[in-house]
Amino acid sequence: MKQIDQVANGAKFIADTPHRESHDRCLWAARMRRDAVAQQIPEWEEMRGLASLVKMHTLSNLDVYLEEFEKNAIANGIHIHWAKDATEHNEMVYEIFKAHNVKIVTKGKSMLMDECGMREFMAEKGMQIFEADLGERIQQLSNERASHIVMPAIHKLRGDVAQLFAEHMGSDPTNDDPHYLNSVMREDMRKNYIKVDAGMSGVNFAIAETGGIVVCTNEGNADISANVPPLYVASMGIEKLIPRASDLPLFVRLLSRSALGFHITQYTSHYHGPREGQEMHIVIVDNGRSERLAKPGYWEVLKCMRCSACLNTCPVFRRTGGLSYDAPYMGPIGIVLEPSYDLHLYAQLPYSCTHCGSCGNVCPVKVPIPELVFMWRNELVDKREDLLSHRLEMDVASQILRSASRLTWAEKFALSALRHAPKGLLDSRLNPWTINHVNPEAPQETFREYYKKQQSTDKEQ
Ligand code: SF4
Repeated sequence: MKQIDQVANGAKFIADTPHRESHDRCLWAARMRRDAVAQQIPEWEEMRGLASLVKMHTLSNLDVYLEEFEKNAIANGIHIHWAKDATEHNEMVYEIFKAHNVKIVTKGKSMLMDECGMREFMAEKGMQIFEADLGERIQQLSNERASHIVMPAIHKLRGDVAQLFAEHMGSDPTNDDPHYLNSVMREDMRKNYIKVDAGMSGVNFAIAETGGIVVCTNEGNADISANVPPLYVASMGIEKLIPRASDLPLFVRLLSRSALGFHITQYTSHYHGPREGQEMHIVIVDNGRSERLAKPGYWEVLKCMRCSACLNTCPVFRRTGGLSYDAPYMGPIGIVLEPSYDLHLYAQLPYSCTHCGSCGNVCPVKVPIPELVFMWRNELVDKREDLLSHRLEMDVASQILRSASRLTWAEKFALSALRHAPKGLLDSRLNPWTINHVNPEAPQETFREYYKKQQSTDKEQ
């Protein structure tokens, strides 16, 4: 099977200057806001450390907390289901819908449902799904997946959205005013809301102690899904648990500040059971999480709370756009998550990293992303899933670097080649480095020769 080539996909986005510049600007602004609000909290770093410890404690006792959550949720009148993988999740949700004769569903934004391919599954079953999140709805109308965890359509320009809405909703294609576009979408979605039979949402936090869930949004889309229809289904990964209600403020304080640089999300909604006359279900999904938990050196990836701070700061992500990863998860967290779903398909993603380390510095729960990138590269080499060209380069380098005389010879050879090879050859496509760089003038001597000369001059003085 062909591997995802993020470099080739990203090159197309880089070549599209207006989109790339807007994307980079918007995400860097979010990163700057994040820094400003974090600096207003003197105990910010202590909060990150504490959140990481709470998550590590929860993951170390996950079986206990999952059972506690289930018991308390059932006592609250919630139906609990366990799905071992994406297929089981989709089928379970479909069975619930079938039992209630559901035809039209509204759903809030959920990375887990994207991971499970739920929208496509339901469409095949003839179910009509309306995304209630503005960005996600834009992506649905474009027939594209989300390009960012919390801003799904951030790679688009206002003009793109105006064109899209004109196509699908007959609005003015020349009016790209955000207020106008918002009102077009609102009017269209309201017609749908009154028809929906069921609502769905993801889960940001599930509290073992209370059996309740918390969903954070900026548009209230989860609230529409949870409150308007007579049936509400929430899907959560097993890692969404926190032990106590008193742990929640710590995570809520970190989440929105890390994501968008806002003090809090517009809506932080708590659901502790169905409202009167409603039925509420929670599907708890594994889909490879237990294996990640059992993988030495990797399990900390489950601390991730999908805030997207690592995306906003990543120089590769900001320039290449989320769709270039061609995967449900993108950016730094995507390149360390996706290989655990399919090592071969996503084998090149861990190489889409400059090792600047910025993702690890901003992560509110201290997921060690830079270390996990190295871990995957090691595993890819061990399993011979890395690119053949990388392997050949490394084999040659390892032969040279293990012998001082070979290294001296190689330095001299490289210097001579740089000085005497025709310029056209050095600046050709055979040397991809020069696509975006100007070759410097070759020095007269190798560094080793220069160093030796300096040492003897120092001795003579
Ligand atoms: S890895 Fe950290 S920074 Fe990235 S999305 Fe997850 S919690 Fe946020």
